[in-house]
Amino acid sequence: MPIDLHTHSSRSDGTATPTELVAEAAAHGLDVVALTDHDTVDGWQEAATAAVANGITLVRGIELSTRYDGRSVHLLAYLPDPTYQPLAAEMARVRRGRDSRLPLMMERLRELDIDITEDDVRDGAAEGAVLGRPHVADALVGKGVVGHRNEAFEKMLGPGGPAFVPRYATSLPHAVELVRAAGGVPVVAHPWGRNRVLTAAALADLQQRGLVGIEVDHQDHAPAAREELRRIAGDLGLVATGSSDWHGTGKVDHELGCNTTDPAAFERLLAAAGVAATAVVAP
Ligand code: AMP
Ligand code: ZN
Ligand code: FE
Ligand code: FE
Repeated sequence: MPIDLHTHSSRSDGTATPTELVAEAAAHGLDVVALTDHDTVDGWQEAATAAVANGITLVRGIELSTRYDGRSVHLLAYLPDPTYQPLAAEMARVRRGRDSRLPLMMERLRELDIDITEDDVRDGAAEGAVLGRPHVADALVGKGVVGHRNEAFEKMLGPGGPAFVPRYATSLPHAVELVRAAGGVPVVAHPWGRNRVLTAAALADLQQRGLVGIEVDHQDHAPAAREELRRIAGDLGLVATGSSDWHGTGKVDHELGCNTTDPAAFERLLAAAGVAATAVVAP
């Protein structure tokens, strides 16, 4: 019963529509897939319709942009009430921060003598998509400035890069509380990927605020990091999850189902949300 709890569609920075994503997931033999676009629930409805058509269980999720100790941390939120206003308002604030960063990034790139406008970036993204650096990277690929997204991050867009511009993100402890208040299940995404700002003590503190799980099996984690995180999750009683963080063709080595979540761990997440397994699929 393969379960993949972290994927992105073109409603944020994935390359497949929610319908295509769900069909791909079913074709890969997954039984459960979570759609976790960055800072939006925009793809949920389309994905739910596709889930029914493809006979696969959809978990409605979000990957929230947060900040801890000045560093970027991603928080997965499963099954929150999207009409809970404090959470909806906070996501809207994060999206505004993403939009206001774009013109500044364009200025930085033009200072590097790259002829690029916001329209170039928007033209390459789906209508109304939550825009991020991957869309800027796509525009740079389109112009032949770089060969692929990864190169754009390494040369220009990553932290410390010449076109890096910080943006607003929710404080992590607050985000955990918001997700809980919205009836959702917070799971910290790839905590030991790009930085290791979250220590075992920090995770224990977040657990007091309502954190339920840790994404342990993720491509950004080396085997030793996975082992250590699994031990911490076990010690604290946090749920250990695994997922692909699929972005379609936008991210290499993140194939659907490349990491999966144990069915017993999935049951614990559902129990934390207070829903039965049958409740997650209905559109
Ligand atoms: P942003 O949302 O603008 O902060 O951009 C972060 C997104 O960029 C995340 O979804 C990452 O998956 C993606 N990302 C970060 N580094 C890379 C990379 N080296 N290659 C491709 N995508 C990346
Ligand atoms: Zn992404
Ligand atoms: Fe992430
Ligand atoms: Fe992600």
